[in-house]
Amino acid sequence: MRDLNSDDADLNQQLLAWYDHNARAMPWRVSPADRAAGVVPDPYRIWLSEVMLQQTTVAAVTDYFQRFTRRWPTVADLAAAEDADVMGEWAGLGYYARARNLLKCARVVANDLEGVFPDSYEALLKLPGIGPYTAAAVASIAFDRVETVLDGNVERVMARLHDVHAPLPGVKSELKAHAAALTPTQRPGDYAQAVMDLGATLCTPKNPACGICPWRAPCLARVAGTATELPKKTPKQPKPTRLGIVYLARSASGDWLLERRPDKGLLGGMLGWPGSDWNEAPSPKAPFEADWQDLGAEVRHTFTHFHLILRVMLAELPPEFTAQEGQEILPRHDFRPTDLPTVMRKAFDLWKGQTDLLTTSQQ
Ligand code: SF4
Repeated sequence: MRDLNSDDADLNQQLLAWYDHNARAMPWRVSPADRAAGVVPDPYRIWLSEVMLQQTTVAAVTDYFQRFTRRWPTVADLAAAEDADVMGEWAGLGYYARARNLLKCARVVANDLEGVFPDSYEALLKLPGIGPYTAAAVASIAFDRVETVLDGNVERVMARLHDVHAPLPGVKSELKAHAAALTPTQRPGDYAQAVMDLGATLCTPKNPACGICPWRAPCLARVAGTATELPKKTPKQPKPTRLGIVYLARSASGDWLLERRPDKGLLGGMLGWPGSDWNEAPSPKAPFEADWQDLGAEVRHTFTHFHLILRVMLAELPPEFTAQEGQEILPRHDFRPTDLPTVMRKAFDLWKGQTDLLTTSQQ
């Protein structure tokens, strides 16, 4: 480890002083001024925001967070919600296993823990869907525990502050050790949020604002001129591409045939269009015999581990059709495209775009 010419206590005080004036406002956050005045964060809101924020940004999460907390203001309210309502509100945020675990966790807290979130890293880690990152974040932010929170922003800041050139993910534990050494015993929750804010607002991936950074003096990458190269990453394997077919069936009165996906697996528990498996050569699997029309355009979507290309087929739902197990015929007025996961909504948008075009050209 190279010497930063500044001790850890100085560094964390410099950062907290910066945070006191520059903390981002977020609907779940207690500002440093309110925190100093004795306001404590609501662990339910902190937990919910941290689960939503995994793999995505504050901007993408804010509306979802506000809708969830308006509809389910406490963990008991969320625990009592219908699964389908929660999955519907989550639609579009992706990583649907998180929504299922969110519900499981809410039910454990509401039913087994009298609605009170545990206040330690170890106890939080035992709850469904809470991994090391979320346990550390909730313990630190909601309960002011001395825990090290290491997200992508913090990794970047630590790699630059210490001018670490070994690549992620192998170097993660070294970056965590740097972050742990800096975590103060006073105001650890504010400090955790301060490092994340520094990474999100000044120490950004492409154009770090070193000139106004509270750590510009000790930062080794700034001195070495290497900040924009860091953190280094081991190149990823290219993602494979899978193919699939979805079948949009609509009755003459505008009702839609949908299918709830099995709880386990990708998009588990979400509503979607009936369709084939997704692989290199999918076999057609129409939900009923009909003259299926190919919409002639593809849906493209990227999941964590693969790219997906879907063919979209359309047919009229026969009046005598009876929904099979797992299928639902949603009346026209109950159908909300926003309840669908993004990849399924893209198929609907494709149909809608073509239908609108047809209507316009016939006017
Ligand atoms: S000085 Fe620049 S590179 Fe170093 S922590 Fe600050 S913004 Fe990041």
